[in-house]
Amino acid sequence: MARNIGSRYTAHQILGRGSAGTVWLGEGPEGPVAIKLLREDLASDQELVGRFVQERTALLGLDHPHVVSVRDLVVDGNDLALVMDLVRGTDLRTRLDRERRLAPEAAVAIIADVADGLAAAHKAGVVHRDVKPENILLDMEGPLGPGGAHPALLTDFGVAKLIDTPGRTKATRIIGTPDYLAPEIVEGLPPRAAVDIYALATVLYELLAGFTPFGGGHPGAVLRRHVTETVVPLPGIPEELWQLLVQCLAKAPASRLRASELGTRLRDVLPLLKGIPPLDVDEPDADPTAEPAYEEDPFPTGTGEPAPRRAAVPLVPGASTDSNRDTHTSMRVPGPDELSGGPLGTARAPRSASARRPGSARHKAGTVRKRRITLTVAAVVLAGALGAGGYLAVSGDSGGTDAPPQDSKQSTRP
Ligand code: ADP
Ligand code: MG
Repeated sequence: MARNIGSRYTAHQILGRGSAGTVWLGEGPEGPVAIKLLREDLASDQELVGRFVQERTALLGLDHPHVVSVRDLVVDGNDLALVMDLVRGTDLRTRLDRERRLAPEAAVAIIADVADGLAAAHKAGVVHRDVKPENILLDMEGPLGPGGAHPALLTDFGVAKLIDTPGRTKATRIIGTPDYLAPEIVEGLPPRAAVDIYALATVLYELLAGFTPFGGGHPGAVLRRHVTETVVPLPGIPEELWQLLVQCLAKAPASRLRASELGTRLRDVLPLLKGIPPLDVDEPDADPTAEPAYEEDPFPTGTGEPAPRRAAVPLVPGASTDSNRDTHTSMRVPGPDELSGGPLGTARAPRSASARRPGSARHKAGTVRKRRITLTVAAVVLAGALGAGGYLAVSGDSGGTDAPPQDSKQSTRP
């Protein structure tokens, strides 16, 4: 069933559904395109429509082989649509769901592509803010790269920024997952380029491990882990690759690599990864979502001894000398009592990564029980994050009462 979008495009069939709307296979004057039709409640938000049009230069300006280009923006009656390059293939989430884990060479080739795309965007002053496997498309018609990986393209630039404004956080319903949120966002700082690096490193970890480093359970618990926990090493991962991951998952934004550097360094390690099979990583064996939400359990070890308390990981690691850069130094460092779930104490340095073995880490049932204690605290952190001005995308009907745009049939194509 064909449907007209503005005067220049026709939408033919649904390619996929996302949180912001539905993506259609369409046809335009220059051939096939992908058309993202924004959700009705977003399209009827006058303010959002205004910003949508305002932002068109940034959205239309990105042209890079690893970025899905936005070709046109259409405001047509109740329709608000982004016209994009059509990518014939699948998204990375679909591939990951199918394969569970990728061989390191393919994983790194994909992430290096995305890092290159991000580098171009960051250079143009655009922060993506929603890097996750769902927003990485694999072009099945493109040439095969290292590890048999198809070219990867980052999509949805600017969409998070358009949708996500403090005014819309009234609905306070989180969409998507907090798994990829950098700690500084949890802290309420405005998202800068380094948040994309953190999210991309999280995706790389997920491609290798089959799960994200800090995901699982209550969203508040996930947010807290971003701020307090150190990443668990993956067995069998080449040291060079692991170091890149650790650096890009650093709590302090200034400690992370820049996108261009990450792309280069990832391509440098590619030859080392040839022929390495997917890593043999223990699946998280406890379902953290099954845990009772806010149960207090002061002696979770069952030994009568109080459980060891987690201490807050300082956001400023050691005596950092980068305070003259645009860094974490203005961050509000959460109090240990806020983050540890324990009594006041001095924050200590992160445990060495090797102190926690994969499979014996937080995914195991024993630690899940200990986590109950901290969930109350996590809820506080979540509430804080939601109140902090809405760096989480939210959905809901906060803008839904506005009248639809008045017969503003127009294409914003310059
Ligand atoms: P949202 O960001 O609103 O959640 P997405 O942009 O991720 O939605 O799109 C949902 C799905 O539509 C994707 O997973 C993908 O399968 C498909 N899709 C999105 N953009 C394109 C595109 N440019 N070309 C082909 N398919 C696309
Ligand atoms: Mg998307």
